[in-house]
Amino acid sequence: MAQNVYQFIDVKRIDPPKRSLTERTIEFVEIYQPLTATQAEGQADRCLDCGNPYCEWKCPVHNYIPQWLKLANEGKIVEAAELAHKTNSLPEVCGRVCPQDRLCEGACTLDEGFGAVTIGSIEKYITDKAFAMGWRPDLSAVVKTDKKVAVIGAGPAGLACADVLVRNGVSPVVFDRYPEIGGLLTFGIPPFKLEKSVLQLRREIFSEMGIEFRLNTTVGVDVSFDSLLDEYDAVFLALGTYTPMKGGLLNEDAAGVYEALPFLIGNVNNLMGWQTEHPFVSLKDKTVVVLGGGDTAMDCVRTSIRQGAHKVSCAYRRDEANMPGSRKEVQNAREEGVEFLFNLQPLGIELNDAGQVCGVKVISTQLGEPDAKGRRSAEPVPGSEQILPADAVVIAFGFQPSPPKWLVDMGIALDNKGRVVASEQSPYALQTNQQKVFAGGDMVLGSDLVVTAIAQGRKAAEGILDYLEV
Ligand code: FAD
Ligand code: SF4
Repeated sequence: MAQNVYQFIDVKRIDPPKRSLTERTIEFVEIYQPLTATQAEGQADRCLDCGNPYCEWKCPVHNYIPQWLKLANEGKIVEAAELAHKTNSLPEVCGRVCPQDRLCEGACTLDEGFGAVTIGSIEKYITDKAFAMGWRPDLSAVVKTDKKVAVIGAGPAGLACADVLVRNGVSPVVFDRYPEIGGLLTFGIPPFKLEKSVLQLRREIFSEMGIEFRLNTTVGVDVSFDSLLDEYDAVFLALGTYTPMKGGLLNEDAAGVYEALPFLIGNVNNLMGWQTEHPFVSLKDKTVVVLGGGDTAMDCVRTSIRQGAHKVSCAYRRDEANMPGSRKEVQNAREEGVEFLFNLQPLGIELNDAGQVCGVKVISTQLGEPDAKGRRSAEPVPGSEQILPADAVVIAFGFQPSPPKWLVDMGIALDNKGRVVASEQSPYALQTNQQKVFAGGDMVLGSDLVVTAIAQGRKAAEGILDYLEV
């Protein structure tokens, strides 16, 4: 029987069901429930196999999307997982946290009028299901070399680099200052988007593949960068970006004003019983204002809701259309009870007579011309100041590069923003100005996305393999 290529007309896009709002607003568990096999197969079947897969080009790791959708539709889970791992080191993570509306799904031919294929959910389904069936990457044909590479940072860039290296017979040793792998996947992105067990399973799988992890090990403190340069054939830098951007607000450092990332990490540590330098802050019963409009701000408002805050607002200086955060996450935050206040630029933190936070002074804005990234500038409207009541304020203005001193002392070239200079077109992809040293992820791109960090880690591994002549 001829295949029905118009099934997308009858079969509508369905997203995985979400947990009830009652559960969502108190629990730190993923809000999306898994697709059933019937749902996943039916949704995968909506792919037109249009011959010109824009989805594949828009995906930063260029996943073979139509091919694994076809395998998923046929119920060939192991084959689909094998294929998904050929281009992506963490497909189960990307399926959960990629802003698909801006990437693969935004480029799907069906997006206009019919609803894009649920690519992300199916990527997650394939990988979770294959792991549950006991499938593991098969490295039995890999010929081991005597080469070893030190990877600094167990975030997505470092993990992706180690994954490609070990699949090519090179032994990676991954160093991280934290007690678990994942970087911001573990110590940043909250469990309601990505449960910590996902990374714990990944660590087991990567360890079985031959990747060695040295956790609780800070390079520059517990082990010197020089010694890594001496002992290893190459070094990959994947340290991320961790300097919080300041708003230059009056009383920005007052008690009751919190930086976004330490707040999120403290919350995860409290849930998991882990020790890092960030203490737990509870916003229970507080009137919370979160300043910023990106993914980090969305994670802070939704964490505050789950902690039992009295009221949570998000103040952003542009309008909703110009927010950098994922549309899906804004929608989820709104459903969970977050109030969005657009076109408000913060000026300062208001303190009461006891020196405690009692509000945020803001000024209304109107939008001007688009900037280099296409986002319209926010211009203050004179005389429109007002005070938003608050007894806790979380600042989520983003991050700047944080190159450590040893990196600067080694003469690794940085650009004027502090990002490591490493080009995908260097003689060896993502090599720095030091022959043996490669770099990738946020510390090269500036704060970006999980999937772009993975793409860079994989690319850097190719550069390292070429350099080592493996
Ligand atoms: P990181 O993930 O930052 O990993 C760097 C690692 O290096 C860390 O584990 C760190 O401990 C380690 N390290 C640093 N210095 C040392 C040292 N001296 N010695 C040993 N280890 C060291 N992106 C998305 O695509 N979707 C999202 O939903 C999303 N949500 C986000 C939410 C938050 C709160 C934040 C902050 C970011 C979010 N991002 C999201 C962005 C994404 O997490 C990052 O772009 C990505 O993690 C960058 O990967 P990386 O490997 O370059 O760095
Ligand atoms: Fe889409 Fe991200 Fe998966 Fe690529 S990695 S197919 S962008 S969800």
